[in-house]
Amino acid sequence: MKPETIIKVISSSGEPYDVHFEFSDNKFKVHCNCPAGIYGKLCKHKTGLLGGDSSLLFNKTDYEILQQIHEVVKKSKYTEIMTSYNILLKEIDAAQKKEKKIKEQIAQSLKTGIDIS
Ligand SMILES: [Zn+2]
Repeated sequence: MKPETIIKVISSSGEPYDVHFEFSDNKFKVHCNCPAGIYGKLCKHKTGLLGGDSSLLFNKTDYEILQQIHEVVKKSKYTEIMTSYNILLKEIDAAQKKEKKIKEQIAQSLKTGIDIS
């Protein structure tokens, strides 16, 4: 793995963004120059490339290097954290559906009448 790699990703504006990967002996860092990424925030470009999503590639010739990065990342703590994060997102989604259902039940009850006996 080269210590520094830049992969260009497609963007909605047409101008590609640069995702920088920095590898050292025991760490990797990722930076993206998209509007969210410049503030160090998590963006779909970082997570997408780390997840091996080749549909983001601006230059399809970066496919090989993306696979190499993905292989390294797969064995890292990142995968563990992302797994927890994705589980959390599913739980939030399920809770939101439940909330919506209960809210509808409350609204319906107020319409049809609530038993006060
Ligand atoms: Zn980005």
